[in-house]
Amino acid sequence: MRFRVDPTVCEGYGTCADIAPEVFSLDPWGYAQAVPADVAPGAPEQDALRAEHECPVRAIRHYEPDAG
Ligand code: SF4
Repeated sequence: MRFRVDPTVCEGYGTCADIAPEVFSLDPWGYAQAVPADVAPGAPEQDALRAEHECPVRAIRHYEPDAG
């Protein structure tokens, strides 16, 4: 599973980086980006899904790379 942040929606709240710092990082302006790699199943994936759910503006989406 991979994650992406829509940069046109992210408001830089930083919640995602607090919840799943191994997947989401903040750029110098405080906006989030997701690692461009598969997130390991288990705790990392669960944390990232929770971050997706907790994002106040719903800027995070997950997807399966094989599914396009
Ligand atoms: S929680 Fe949402 S709005 Fe906040 S930095 Fe992450 S993606 Fe952006």
